Amino acid sequence: MDSTSTTIITKKQSNHGRRLVLLPLPFQGHINPMLQLANILHSKAFSITILHTLFNSPNPTYYPHFTFLPIPGTANEHLSVFGAENVVSLLMYLNEDCMEQIKECLVRLMLEDEGVVCLITDAQWFATQKVADELKLPRIVHRTSSIASFHSYVAFPSFLETGYFQGFKNDDETKSRALVPGLESLKIKDFSKIFPSNPEASCKVLERMTQGTRLARAVIWNTFKELEELELETLNHGFPNPHFLIGPFHKYFVASSSSLFVQDQTSISWLDKHPPNSVLYVSFGSIAGVEESEFLEMAWGLANSKQPFLWVVRPGSIKGMKEHELFSDGALGKIIGERGYIVKWAPQQEVLAHPATCAFWTHNGWNSTLESICEGVPMICSPSFGDQLTTARYVGDVWKIGVVLENGFERGEIDCAIKRLMLEKEGLEMRNKVMNLKEKVNFCLKKGGSSYSSLEDLVGYILSF
Ligand code: UDP
Repeated sequence: MDSTSTTIITKKQSNHGRRLVLLPLPFQGHINPMLQLANILHSKAFSITILHTLFNSPNPTYYPHFTFLPIPGTANEHLSVFGAENVVSLLMYLNEDCMEQIKECLVRLMLEDEGVVCLITDAQWFATQKVADELKLPRIVHRTSSIASFHSYVAFPSFLETGYFQGFKNDDETKSRALVPGLESLKIKDFSKIFPSNPEASCKVLERMTQGTRLARAVIWNTFKELEELELETLNHGFPNPHFLIGPFHKYFVASSSSLFVQDQTSISWLDKHPPNSVLYVSFGSIAGVEESEFLEMAWGLANSKQPFLWVVRPGSIKGMKEHELFSDGALGKIIGERGYIVKWAPQQEVLAHPATCAFWTHNGWNSTLESICEGVPMICSPSFGDQLTTARYVGDVWKIGVVLENGFERGEIDCAIKRLMLEKEGLEMRNKVMNLKEKVNFCLKKGGSSYSSLEDLVGYILSF
């Protein structure tokens, strides 16, 4: 950009309105909280423009009060999101190949009468910090995960560099249970699986994300102070920018859909037929996948537990298996019998809030974990990669509101975990603990509560730009 256009932008900004530009990452677990954040800020009289990729584009019809601006050239139909490896290469593509288009979109918006007060991007759009600096546009980062998992991301590259994981094997019981120095809630076996494939490329992404977060004006977190007080303290040492903990976002308003998949409402009518606290809900979110053999272990574990279950089997989530193959020979039906109900995608927040739901077998994506906490539902944890490992460990060992499956997918362990959670005293204790957190959530969002106050501070902070 030349100096003339910089001058024009500066002038326009002096009579700016209250427009915020929000840039979500094009994954379900990132689009949901960003659009929830947009709704929250809209309720504080900001006008909202959503800048988005054409790939995994959010549906604007559910948000007539926002302006949607697609980033040209981002409709690559070859992009797909499946597993850790894919996510890392997609992040590199987004941050390396889309910056020129994003910059052009921002310049256009800044030149309009309304101007732009500030850019809010997902932390994983780290390269936008340079663009924002060039445009002299304040950038705030939105972290869609917990503070605890952010700490593990910050630490991961230096552990890799010092050879911490070298020679480590998962079947080395003693070492695998050893706690990670400086991150004492984590075990080395969790840490080594954060980015199982191509850790070097993952480290580059993590380092750039960390740097982009450090340079941002502030960070907005979809978490709440009562849940992560100690983690916040540590964060303040390494990242002195202001942090606004205003979550859980989805509790501010009745759910408005930002689902990329069609939600099967028969999930609710099926739950309606069951007594309170009797059903296990099973879902591994929008990216995680399992091998065919793991899927069969899951089915046997569920069947052997003899508890009713609602199971989300997302098309394409079983590696190497086509959807029609799943039911073709009737084998799966024979295993799960009458107790199980399978859907492709569920209205998850409604399912978790349903009185029949007793427990949630989850991959511990941050949204799923928060949604479970907010409804007082204890968890069985099967993390796959990334932040899920840290979150699962916190659910199991720190907050003590769930059971981590320590050995992957093994029918005996699955059956045992389901019974522990749904039938035994231990499960009741976990339910009491998670109900306690649910109450804290309700309190933190009320006037005077921590998230309520932090949101007020955030609004004041943005208006000070
Ligand atoms: N979700 C849903 N229906 C499903 C499974 C998931 O609506 O059948 C939603 C869920 O409520 C959550 C999001 O998809 O808001 C998944 O985000 P999360 O961070 O848990 O996992 P990710 O998909 O990013 O791995």
